[in-house]
Amino acid sequence: MEPIFMVDIFPIKDLPGEIMEIQEEIDFPDLTGAGNRLLKFINPWDLKCQVTNINKGFQVIGKIEGYYELVCDRCLKNFKSYLETEIFDNFLPVHNSYEQEEEERVFSGAKIDLTPTLLEAINLKIPIKNLCSQDCQGLCPVCGVDLNFKTCDCQKETFDPRLAKLLKWKELEGGGSGGQSKR
Ligand SMILES: [Zn+2]
Ligand SMILES: [Zn+2]
Repeated sequence: MEPIFMVDIFPIKDLPGEIMEIQEEIDFPDLTGAGNRLLKFINPWDLKCQVTNINKGFQVIGKIEGYYELVCDRCLKNFKSYLETEIFDNFLPVHNSYEQEEEERVFSGAKIDLTPTLLEAINLKIPIKNLCSQDCQGLCPVCGVDLNFKTCDCQKETFDPRLAKLLKWKELEGGGSGGQSKR
């Protein structure tokens, strides 16, 4: 994918042990995440990290935080949420790739692309189940009304009379066999 954020490592490129502090506001484009759900970033996000020249490459440690918007799994409304997550990655020069482990990242020239690092960290932090609130009532499966704001008669009409009868019946049964001996 197109790089969203690149770090210019030129100032510390030939200086092993040197550290560069980075503080940046980042704008992310909307993304389609796991399960085809649309992740809308509310920009900008805040990135704070340290890039260290570790001689064989560069180490990035820091955190990224910001707000995003997702669709509630129950009521299908957009809602806003916030996350903060740690990032940690080592970047090795691309010509060392023959000894590269799978999780390692590479760079060439004087720039490292933090895009995959950032997006993976963010994606890992987003919950599997997304609810606008823990007690979201969702939509009525019959008429589709948003039960957080309205009530509908669907459940009452199909449910209530029978439920009432059932409860009454249970009450009678319970009373009969529940230890009180019949006279
Ligand atoms: Zn909801
Ligand atoms: Zn309904």
